[in-house]
Amino acid sequence: MHCCLCLQSSPGIDGDGTTLAMSKWDSDWSEVAFSEISLEEGRRHGASAGGYTLTTFFRVCPTCFHAKVIPWFVSQGARPTTYSIDL
Ligand SMILES: [Zn+2]
Repeated sequence: MHCCLCLQSSPGIDGDGTTLAMSKWDSDWSEVAFSEISLEEGRRHGASAGGYTLTTFFRVCPTCFHAKVIPWFVSQGARPTTYSIDL
């Protein structure tokens, strides 16, 4: 897995506590670094008739998230929402 902006490889492993679209960027046990920029869209055909979804996502490393993604959203008038969790 690599960042789609700077091509930095991630030391994380896909699927390790993440959704398919979530990228894991932590390099050791003491670090926590996940990112997710995704859109899941689709249609249900009925309660038991199934359906489908299509997920589009970008893998973006923390460095590019701070240096490129946040500034772009802010330039569009958006403000980030943050929250913290005690581990
Ligand atoms: Zn990057």
